Amino acid sequence: MSPSSKRMGNWRTSFIMGYAVIVLLLSAVWLFFLLGPVSHALEARQREGLVSVANATEVALETSQLPVEDVLDRVASSDNLRLTLISSDGEVVADSSDVVDPVSHAQRPEVAAALQGSLGFDRRISESDGIEYLYVAIPSKARPEGAVLRVSMPVTQAHAAVMRFRWTSFALLAITFTLAAGGALLLFLRAAAPVSRLERVRTDFVANASHELKTPVAGIRLLSESISLASEEGDVEVAGEFARQLSHESERLQSLITDLMDLSRLEDETRPTLSSDTCDLSSVVATSFETRRAHAKEAGLTFTLDNRVPIDSPCRVHLSVANATLMVDNLIDNAIAYTEQGGVEVRLFLEGQTAVLEVIDTGIGIPPADQDRIFERFYRVDTMRSRETGGTGLGLSLVRHAVQRGDGAIELESVLGEGSTFRVRLPLA
Ligand code: ADP
Repeated sequence: MSPSSKRMGNWRTSFIMGYAVIVLLLSAVWLFFLLGPVSHALEARQREGLVSVANATEVALETSQLPVEDVLDRVASSDNLRLTLISSDGEVVADSSDVVDPVSHAQRPEVAAALQGSLGFDRRISESDGIEYLYVAIPSKARPEGAVLRVSMPVTQAHAAVMRFRWTSFALLAITFTLAAGGALLLFLRAAAPVSRLERVRTDFVANASHELKTPVAGIRLLSESISLASEEGDVEVAGEFARQLSHESERLQSLITDLMDLSRLEDETRPTLSSDTCDLSSVVATSFETRRAHAKEAGLTFTLDNRVPIDSPCRVHLSVANATLMVDNLIDNAIAYTEQGGVEVRLFLEGQTAVLEVIDTGIGIPPADQDRIFERFYRVDTMRSRETGGTGLGLSLVRHAVQRGDGAIELESVLGEGSTFRVRLPLA
């Protein structure tokens, strides 16, 4: 596994673990801060309800002509409650339920509290029917010597609302969880896609670069072995020819290393805003043109510079001298390399606030199908020809990067067999 795939794997694990921890934490917070208090609030409501029923029953007992049992039965049946009237010594006087516990109720916490004159509450399993009840007891005047009126409700019934609330909440939590997981997955896939594309581009680049480097290195090794063999045999002429080829191969290797270093520098330069470096494009073009004059002459080409930028007008662009030189050098070198007859013309002029550089040749031209691809790293229309001319396949990729650094644009017009025009537009600094 490559280090970057390993990093990617670690990143994936951290992402999923992080997501799980956040969801668990949020669920715990939700249970603690919302579900707990709401459950308690609902239970308190149930108790208040029972107190209201007890008070209403007490009024009914005071005012109704009906026997106590009947009043208790009527209230109990309407709300599925159990009502008990207990005497001051703890005996059950009347009960809406048929299952009556004959023992004294005086010690039951809610009854004891009501006998003291306050509201009594409890929650326990009833000894008479084994069901868990919520009890509320109030002092009652239903008997002259004093009594307690108790209302109770099975906990299951009291908790039905709480349970309903819980289930609704859990359902909502599950929906939120699913939506969040879906969203996270989508984000994850989106975030992962460019990384894997980037990884593929990197892998391709490393494979291409190694292949490109291997060729001159193998050539150099072979040639140096041949030179030593020719020297041993005393064949000075052959040794000299091999030495010339060796020099050519090492030049190729040097250009490739320089281009790779330039590319790595250009790709590493982050560009939140325009490059702070500026240069005078006019003088960069003039220098590049002059240093290539001899080469063009050697190739038997006409070579002209048409600089229409007025002497007193600045032609500063957002490029360092190094990047501008790299851009102009590569365009002119290509024009010379891919032109067999005719010539190369370099033009520079201003169009409003834009500097326009044109490198025009009458060379071999570029087929329409390749015109978009020649700016890719290591892409060549004719590999053999590019190697013969000492090309690295990185020139136009470097030019494109440099132009982007200067916030400019590059265009190509080319007709196969007639020639090409590379046009660069750069905003003035
Ligand atoms: P190279 O080092 O091979 O020249 P470049 O990236 O500079 O690499 O160019 C990529 C390819 O584009 C070249 O191999 C060549 O096929 C084509 N090309 C570039 N400039 C010209 C031109 N002026 N005329 C014709 N073909 C060109």
